[in-house]
Amino acid sequence: MSQLDGPAFHRIPPWVKAKLSPTAIEKIQKVHNFVETECIPAEPIMKAQIAEVGKRWTTQPLMHELRQKAKTAGLFNLFLPSHFKESPGLTNLEYSCCAEIMGRVYWAQQTMNCHAPETGNIELLAKYCTPEQKKKWLQPLLDGTASSAYSMTEPDVASSDATQIGCRITKEGDKYVINGRKLFGNCMWNSENKFYILMGCSDPYNPNKWARHSMVIVPTNTPGITQVRNLTIMGYDHAPEGHGEYIYEDVRVPLENIILGEGRAFEIAQGRLGPGRIHHCMRLIGQCERAYELALVRCIDPRKTPRGKLIGQFDSNIERIAQMRLEIDQARLVVLNAADTMDIHGNKAGRYAIAQSKILVPNMATRIIDECMQLYGGQGLTQHTQLPEMWTYARFVRIADGPDSAHRHQVGRDELKTAEKYAKRNREYQRRYKALAEKMGQKYETFE
Ligand SMILES: Cc1cc2nc3c(=O)[nH]c(=O)nc-3n(C[C@H](O)[C@H](O)[C@H](O)COP(=O)(O)OP(=O)(O)OC[C@H]3O[C@@H](n4cnc5c(N)ncnc54)[C@H](O)[C@@H]3O)c2cc1C
Repeated sequence: MSQLDGPAFHRIPPWVKAKLSPTAIEKIQKVHNFVETECIPAEPIMKAQIAEVGKRWTTQPLMHELRQKAKTAGLFNLFLPSHFKESPGLTNLEYSCCAEIMGRVYWAQQTMNCHAPETGNIELLAKYCTPEQKKKWLQPLLDGTASSAYSMTEPDVASSDATQIGCRITKEGDKYVINGRKLFGNCMWNSENKFYILMGCSDPYNPNKWARHSMVIVPTNTPGITQVRNLTIMGYDHAPEGHGEYIYEDVRVPLENIILGEGRAFEIAQGRLGPGRIHHCMRLIGQCERAYELALVRCIDPRKTPRGKLIGQFDSNIERIAQMRLEIDQARLVVLNAADTMDIHGNKAGRYAIAQSKILVPNMATRIIDECMQLYGGQGLTQHTQLPEMWTYARFVRIADGPDSAHRHQVGRDELKTAEKYAKRNREYQRRYKALAEKMGQKYETFE
């Protein structure tokens, strides 16, 4: 039996296996071993450490320990695609296989420094920063000695349309001055969160709405930032990182903290989101696999025999299991295709495939995890399983990084632009049919 037949590669389709480099095979195997032996058994301990009095916003000692182990094992920053000089050498497709395995535990991504929003921030800084900025802000993130947050969303506008972002960035002497309100960037209560990458409006009257916004680096200890509260997500506080609600009042940062230049936020944002969406989707597939396994275990649990039958002996449940299997495998193909498209043609050309994943996968995952909870029974909705957290993650990815409705809207608009091409083709069918009817002495009928 070859390594590629082992459990780490069990769900990877043959066309992807055929593309894996030796480095990727080694990393996928190691990520699998790490998640199975270091992360899954440690889930209750990680929860207990965060529940300790006074430790809610302090990164758990176990997280630090596992991060160190993962780093030593060469499992840090695997997400950074091979065209970056800081990359450990995996393609998007190869990393996607790792991301699915990491998804089996909500926090495993963080042990390997592959968690959102860090991944997007690292990629952004690697792509758009000057060498000096990289040294100051990127290197600590790559080393795992600092953490960062992304701050775009605001309560006062529809943030899915980022041209509306209103937080003001004004140049005054040798500083940018920031005023506004922000939602969701990770909590500053966690002292490891060292800076925000903030998107704001620096040139509100520019006739080109795509050139009005800029991105700046804002250290969390800058005077004038107030974290009003932590935002809970469907009841979970997601400590110790959380999601903050912020007020910025005359927050001053040096001019050298601008990324790429004034008015260039959209150029940067375009490059930032594609890979992150794929990572979320692959992790969700990993979560679905874990939820599905829990459901399977429940289906053969000898203690649970309603009407004298195992749960898995009811025809309706056999069908449910089959349907879930089909849908998870289908979703994986969609996301792996998106990752491969990005590798071959670039993130921009992969736009449709990325949107396709972002729309289909979180919707599929909420349905599947919901079905697994149902099969599991009441305990499936309690802390006895990870299912409620998994469902919440899938549900929030329907909104985070852009709501699926907005992606659907974009796909639909792009599709409608192709309608004229098909109208032309249909006119051509009609013209040929007419010529053929004349040649064959048939009556030409038209219904238009
Ligand atoms: C758990 C979580 C973590 C997050 N992390 C971050 C973070 O780190 N940094 C950050 O900046 N933001 C973060 N966000 C915010 C997230 O990116 C935004 O909530 C999202 O982009 C939507 O913006 P909005 O909330 O302003 O909704 P709006 O833009 O007001 O949209 C509201 C609703 O309108 C509908 N809608 C919008 N556009 C369309 C359309 N084109 N067609 C049809 N319907 C449409 C949709 O139903 C949509 O859900 C996070 C959100 C969550 C839930």
